[in-house]
This record gives sequence, C-alpha cells and structure tokens, in this order.
Amino acid sequence: MSDSTIKVILSETKKRIPKPEELEFGRVFTDHMFVMDFEDGKGWHRPRIIPYQPITLDPSAKILHYGQSVFEGLKAYSSKEDDILLFRPEKNMERLNRSNDRLCIPSIDEDFALKALKQLLEIDKEWIPKAEGTSLYIRPFIFSTEPYLGVAPSTSYTFMITLSPVGAYYKEGINPVKIAVETEFVRAVHGGTGYAKTGGNYAGSLKAQVNSEKKGYSQVLWLDGNEKKYIEEVGSMNVFFKINGEIVTPALNGSILDGITRDSIIQLLKHWGIKVTERKISFTEIYEAYHAGQLEEAFGTGTAAVISPIGEFGWKEEKLILNNGETGEVSKRLYDTLTGIQKGELEDPFGWRVTV
Ligand SMILES: *Cc1c(COP(=O)(O)O)cnc(C)c1O
Repeated sequence: MSDSTIKVILSETKKRIPKPEELEFGRVFTDHMFVMDFEDGKGWHRPRIIPYQPITLDPSAKILHYGQSVFEGLKAYSSKEDDILLFRPEKNMERLNRSNDRLCIPSIDEDFALKALKQLLEIDKEWIPKAEGTSLYIRPFIFSTEPYLGVAPSTSYTFMITLSPVGAYYKEGINPVKIAVETEFVRAVHGGTGYAKTGGNYAGSLKAQVNSEKKGYSQVLWLDGNEKKYIEEVGSMNVFFKINGEIVTPALNGSILDGITRDSIIQLLKHWGIKVTERKISFTEIYEAYHAGQLEEAFGTGTAAVISPIGEFGWKEEKLILNNGETGEVSKRLYDTLTGIQKGELEDPFGWRVTV
C-alpha cells in the first residue's frame, strides 16, 4: 500500500449513545467510520477514520447497477475489566478476501484492515454496550465505485468499516425460532456465489423471506439449488441437527457460506467429545428422523444470534415441532459456552479471543 498511516479526523459533535433497552440490530451507528479507496494503478490508498456521515456516489457507480460488493460481520465485546474483545477477527478478514476473489474485487491487506478496525474501536469504545446479550456489531464492506455501465470489474472501490451497538438478539434469553422449509426458491447454486458474503445473495433471498413471514415463520431453510433435496443453511445462519445423539451439519460445498460460528461450534463439540459429522443431509432424512422420534434438536449458528434454537420446521402444510418448541440441551450449552468465551467470562482453550 502506498500510504499506510491512517489519518484521523475526529467528530466535533457526539451522538447520544442509546440505552441498552433501546438497542435493536443495526439501526444506530457510532460517531466514526473507517474509509479507504482503491484505484487501478494506485492500489488501496488514503486510509482514514472520519466522522460517520453519508457518502456521495456517481449515479453510474457500478455497485448501483451490477452489485459488485462484499461484506463481513463480527462483534466486539467489552470485558468486565473494560478490555475490548474480538472473536477470531482474522477469520473475517480472510473470508472477506475469499469473497473479494469471487467478485473480482482487489484483495485487501488483512493485517492492515484488522489494525484499522482496532484503531476505530479504540476511538469509539464508549459505544460498546455492556448489558447482558449486547455487543458492538462491526460491518466491514467493499463496493465498486467506477462510473461506467460496461459490464466488467470496476477499476475503483471503497472499503469501509462501520460500527453499530446491538441489543440482545433474544429479549428473554435464547428462544426457539420457527423456520419454513423453502420449496420454491433457492439461494445459491453450484458454481454460483453462495460461499461469498455478497449483497446479491441476500437480494435474491428476500422474496422467500417475505413469503415465509406471511405464514408466521421467521426465516427459511434453504435446500440445494440443483435438486431442492439437500439442506444448505438457514437465512443468515448455518444449521445443525441432533439425530439420535449425533450432531450433523451440511458439509461445505461451495454454495453454503462458511460460517465462523459454524467452525467454532464444530471445534467445541469435538473438544467436548461429542461426535459431529459434516455431510450431505437431505430434508427427507430429517423428516424421517422426526417421525421416528429421533430428531432431538436443531439450531442455526451465526455471528448475530450466535446460536438460534429451532422450535419448528414448516414443511409444505405440515408443522414439525421439535423438543416441544423449547431450547435443547446442546443448543443451550453451546450458546452459554461460546458467548462466555466471547465476553471473556470463560477460559478460551482455542485462543479465539483477541484483545484490542
Ligand atoms: C454470515 C453468514 C452466515 C454466518 O457466518 P458467521 O461467520 O458465523 O457469522 C451464514 N450464512 C450466511 C448466508 C451468511 O451470510
């Protein structure tokens, strides 16, 4: 990079920091943001931390027409000792570059991006909420800015990091969600962009989401794009099942997002001596296990909710009610352990925590 010193311009005014009970997910943003530009020939340059503010874009900027963009999501916690804690942040920067590669966006320097994030967190650290279940959500993202309607990779980009204090995902502790099995639309196909964290995957998923909400479900369970037979993931989460005492989750196949929570859960379960298998899982197998009384738990995993127990699957006109619609034992233990490690309240045998 031509200039790696981050220029800092502090905000002259301070926004009111919301009270913990006012917090939602991703509605309010802190006082500052990180910005860096890319131009062909110049590379990434002009890294800066500036007051949070709207940006200007040329109406022909490529992002507005062809959707060339990627993003990440991670969280910062404030420990009892007031340390700022991150959870495996290097994994997010690595994945950002895998997404960049898929979308023909130039790669970023992962160490530098992490350094910039840490500096931004230091500046806005009073925004990290402390109440149970709250955290500071971090949104790194990159979008194409070249004003040109030709279909080709952009020659210029902007990389930004914004911060948003978020509330407890479940107001009354962790609560099972209802998930509709999506039989009409698909999220991703083999050879597509399923493994990349790119906005287009979400744009294409909204219709199924809206339809499922009309029927009283909160998210959809995606089936594979080729046969609509094998389970992929849930909305913005990876998915796990407990069948007859064994934990299974769909194997990564290029169309499933490689979740960092997913990977952490697999490592935790193995550490506890619980068998976990990554393989192809058809929905028929889940359906049959349910009717044989062997489907003991199901849960989604992702940064936002950490663990989201599934209390019901809607399959066509049938409702499959799991574990009486209550949180299962493994889901609860995983939630308590993972959030305990993230907040610095439990030992971290894997070295996942990073203190800023
Ligand atoms: C981000 C995301 C996940 C979860 O990934 P984490 O790294 O665990 O937060 C799962 N599925 C999709 C589609 C996602 O975008």
